[in-house]
Amino acid sequence: MDLELFLNIFIIVCMFIIGSLFGSFFSLATYRIPRRQDIVATRSYCPTCKHRLNFFDLIPVLSYIFCLGKCRYCGEKISLRYFLLETINGVIFVLMYLVLGYNLKLVIAILIYAILFVIIGSYIMSKKMTDEEKKEVVELKLSKKRGVFISEIVVGMIAFSIFLATALVLTRNYTTNSVYTIANANAYNFALNSIEIALVSDYDELEDFTLNQTIDNIVYTSNVTIEKYSETGNDIEDIVKKINVKVNYTVNGENKEVSLNTLKGKVL
Ligand SMILES: [Zn+2]
Repeated sequence: MDLELFLNIFIIVCMFIIGSLFGSFFSLATYRIPRRQDIVATRSYCPTCKHRLNFFDLIPVLSYIFCLGKCRYCGEKISLRYFLLETINGVIFVLMYLVLGYNLKLVIAILIYAILFVIIGSYIMSKKMTDEEKKEVVELKLSKKRGVFISEIVVGMIAFSIFLATALVLTRNYTTNSVYTIANANAYNFALNSIEIALVSDYDELEDFTLNQTIDNIVYTSNVTIEKYSETGNDIEDIVKKINVKVNYTVNGENKEVSLNTLKGKVL
């Protein structure tokens, strides 16, 4: 299997896993935020028997399938909502990757999607709270015990900022490098084309010329200069001309040049 296909499949699998992890977090966050419960410190527990869930119960999608949708500790049915949120988000993340590619756009799309999902989801879930739960939240608000919740949001935002900044730096380097590589390849290609034009023209009419070409908003200028050439200074002099090609272009404000040369002799 070729490497590119392998990498693509690998990223798709990773995107599904990341998406299902986000989905798992979404179901936790949208349940806890309206109840003013912390979303980081307290581990997940079974809503029926309150048993803390261990690592193997927390693997998105798979835990649900292996336990046949039941709590391992009390046997109570677990809402299909968890499984669906994890699976659907896995698929959504894969689709986002396929549409946007692996770049900064994808990171920003995931961030906006996650923030909107948690805000809208929390609102919907807050409407599904029992009167008793709503009363508890009001009491919590009155007692001003909201510090934990707010500090979590701050920590979350700092973590997201670091994540975003890292992604930005990585994708920026990646795009800049690829822009240089592509421009360099285009310049060489243009230099080769210029040489080809010089080679097909008649030996006696071979003289300096300049060509221009614009690709992806970069202007490439090819200067072809012809000089009489003699390697040994003997009788081959004057029948060989040297074709020099210099292609100049500017990428990200930097002036670049590639040069090539070849010889053309007169057929006597
Ligand atoms: Zn249980």
